[in-house]
Amino acid sequence: MSRHAEIAGGGIGGLSLATMLATSGWSVRVHERAPEIREAGTGIFLKNNAIEVLDEAGMFARIDAEAVGLRRSITMARDGRVLGTRPLNGSGRLLALPRQALIQSLYDSAVAAGAEIVLDSTVRSVDPAGALVLAGGRRLDADLVVAADGVHSRLRDGLGIASTVRRLPTVIHRYMLPTREISTSPDMIEHWSGRYRVATAPCREDLTYAFQVFPENDRGAAAAPRDMSSWTAAFPRLGRLFELMGEQEPITSNYLVAHASSWHRGRAAILGDAAHGMPPTLGQGAGLTVMNARALVAVVTQAASVEDALPAWEAAVRPLADTTQRWARRYDRVTRSWPRPVRFLRPGALWAMRSVPQIRDRMLIADRGLAATTLDVTPL
Ligand SMILES: Cc1cc2nc3c(=O)[nH]c(=O)nc-3n(C[C@H](O)[C@H](O)[C@H](O)COP(=O)(O)OP(=O)(O)OC[C@H]3O[C@@H](n4cnc5c(N)ncnc54)[C@H](O)[C@@H]3O)c2cc1C
Repeated sequence: MSRHAEIAGGGIGGLSLATMLATSGWSVRVHERAPEIREAGTGIFLKNNAIEVLDEAGMFARIDAEAVGLRRSITMARDGRVLGTRPLNGSGRLLALPRQALIQSLYDSAVAAGAEIVLDSTVRSVDPAGALVLAGGRRLDADLVVAADGVHSRLRDGLGIASTVRRLPTVIHRYMLPTREISTSPDMIEHWSGRYRVATAPCREDLTYAFQVFPENDRGAAAAPRDMSSWTAAFPRLGRLFELMGEQEPITSNYLVAHASSWHRGRAAILGDAAHGMPPTLGQGAGLTVMNARALVAVVTQAASVEDALPAWEAAVRPLADTTQRWARRYDRVTRSWPRPVRFLRPGALWAMRSVPQIRDRMLIADRGLAATTLDVTPL
């Protein structure tokens, strides 16, 4: 008899998990509190670990059709000097695409795989004995229940899992620019100047994903209404980019970090940002979410009981998430709070992160995907 899963949250985590469970023969229902499936944000990078999983699960063709495969990651100083270049191939491959295109593709895949997706359906709590309770009080029993309700997860807290969510003093403005005039090559280009970081990547044949990152206490960058003069002073060569940015309202957020004492209780698991929200500096939040969803499907499908499978799942994949989260925070600190008197040492730190194998391989361990875990994953 097929086993049944109830999932709270129709984001990247909930929808990718739903597709893979349904493909493995589970009956699955996803509850999304919003009236439609939507992503807040502009573009997103997908790394090798996510691509591998999405490809195996038959979700990748739809996504690839909307994405640009990037060739190199280039970091530049304010004067245009190249501080480092990394080819984006093998386990370093990287795609950029509009967020809404990604979530729509995941939704279509979940529906095609047979998952039921209920919109306007808010989950009030998750019972580790194996049930979701909806806002209206209806209880839905399941063999597996998953809280994929994002970084501010209420369901995680309701499960009695101790957690902290920290707001870091780094702000990001994200844009989707309706042109490729400032991203003519298929490269992700990051520009560093003082405590500012600006990046661009082509996102489709006619779009550029761009963002500005700065410390929240920086008066010039944090000024409202937005004032591009501190940016043009910091990056005199990027005037046209700032002109284009000035024509749009960005999506603005602070970096957040979530820590949970455990990722499971009884038959309930927490997935995605609810488990390991992290700064997006390594472009791995969604990658780890999708990869951990794949690992969850592998363990619950093979194990005799869900209760036994969940600790094994966490033990296998959590070390990668914890390591990646630590490095994502370090990368943030290198730009935001590197001490001014020793700023001349920063290019050396950047070079080490990109070029010293012991550092680079640790920082980018999640890019390697499930091969970097101890899990024996049988094909879907
Ligand atoms: C600025 C920024 C840039 C990023 N860039 C990248 C990147 O380039 N690459 C990358 O891999 N990652 C990136 N990330 C991280 C990535 O966006 C997240 O890791 C990913 O979206 C997490 O997905 P999720 O499904 O866990 O959570 P979410 O996307 O937050 O989805 C949670 C869903 O649950 C729903 N929900 C919440 N509560 C309930 C409830 N009680 N009942 C029912 N539904 C509920 C919400 O409406 C939402 O739809 C970035 C993050 C940020 C903040």
